[in-house]
Amino acid sequence: MNFDLPEDVQQLVARARDFREQVLAPLEPQFLADGNVPWPLRPRLQAQARDEHGLWAIDVPQEHGGLGMGQLAVCAVHEELNKHPMMFETGGAPEPVLYHCAPHQWDAYFGAVVSGDKRSAYAFTEPGTGSDLGAIQTTAVRDGDDWVINGQKLFIGLAERVEFLILFASTDPARGARGVTVFLLDRGTPGYEVVRTIPTMGDAWDPCELRFEDCRVPDSQRLGAVDEGFATADHQLSHGRLKIASYQLGIAQRCIDLAVAWAQERTTWGRPIASRQAIQFMLADSAVELDAARLLVYRTAWAADRGDDVRTEAFKAKLFATEMAQRVTDRCLQVFGGRGYARDSPVQSFFRQVRLWRIGHGTAEIHRWMIARDLLGEAAS
Ligand SMILES: Cc1cc2nc3c(=O)[nH]c(=O)nc-3n(C[C@H](O)[C@H](O)[C@H](O)COP(=O)(O)OP(=O)(O)OC[C@H]3O[C@@H](n4cnc5c(N)ncnc54)[C@H](O)[C@@H]3O)c2cc1C
Repeated sequence: MNFDLPEDVQQLVARARDFREQVLAPLEPQFLADGNVPWPLRPRLQAQARDEHGLWAIDVPQEHGGLGMGQLAVCAVHEELNKHPMMFETGGAPEPVLYHCAPHQWDAYFGAVVSGDKRSAYAFTEPGTGSDLGAIQTTAVRDGDDWVINGQKLFIGLAERVEFLILFASTDPARGARGVTVFLLDRGTPGYEVVRTIPTMGDAWDPCELRFEDCRVPDSQRLGAVDEGFATADHQLSHGRLKIASYQLGIAQRCIDLAVAWAQERTTWGRPIASRQAIQFMLADSAVELDAARLLVYRTAWAADRGDDVRTEAFKAKLFATEMAQRVTDRCLQVFGGRGYARDSPVQSFFRQVRLWRIGHGTAEIHRWMIARDLLGEAAS
């Protein structure tokens, strides 16, 4: 077995490291003070990553304008970039479900995301349901060549900033999850309103509440077949989970590096705290768990790149990596004592951020259920 990253992935990671050190790192003190970056800066930074460091559309095939690399490259780059707490993602990365765009939708949605002209948000969650996606109450009712959408969505990331939604609506409520259809909904469509942003405990960005009132979209905006929204999206969500798992690796690595340096610098009773077994064990456990998570994430990415179905493996990778990051950021904050809790400490920002990932993109409990279903079959349903 060869655990080395391929040469081309190593080169890409080196470019990501340069970008993080030269461009993102100087922004960190202001980011920690403000708890965010002003919005126009985020797309500007993505454009700079593309133009000056070649970081763009990593896993998009070259014939569609991307670098033509795979999930291993996506994970390795996002591990590196997430050593900065602003949750920076490379641009030009269409949600995998957009590969299902029909020919007449391709340039306006898939192509526009790759070129950087548009961004999208996934809109599943509603006030009445998050995990139980079959209980979606937002409806789309056929009216001639149009669909009329009514309902609400909650916690939709960056919805006030994106040009279109990938919206999941019930088209056959009696059939639950088997009666859901996906629509491409442009910002500015009459009847589609961003009601408010929802402040959260994390830095970086806040999600939104959305409302749809007799919002009319032509059938040409439907993505994939009627009532087959989840079948279309299900397989595609694994790549998002893997990318989130890779964030945790960068976060944990940065926190361990900071805590190791601090443990050697800080003295109590005349000795560095690094000489205390209590501190050593926190750092040792963190290093072991990070290593295990990294192996799981990269093995899954490697399997995805050779075409395996990695649905269960992606659940395992995200579950383990997000819980690892929670423990590691907590221990590293403890190593810093009061300084770890201060606003200018990146560790406290990471500590709050990682809490999201045991909830967002599927909760830890639902991940465990899906893994158990793979083991137990129908007995776990
Ligand atoms: C910052 C942020 C950004 C987000 N961005 C988006 C976005 O862009 N798009 C989007 O669609 N959504 C987004 N979400 C929503 C997120 O995906 C949901 O919060 C998540 O799926 C959980 O749904 P819920 O909050 O309704 O919790 P619920 O489903 O109500 O679950 C509550 C608790 O019950 C547990 N639970 C539920 N069912 C079971 C079961 N069968 N067995 C065991 N335990 C169970 C859950 O694990 C959880 O602990 C975002 C959320 C946040 C906080």
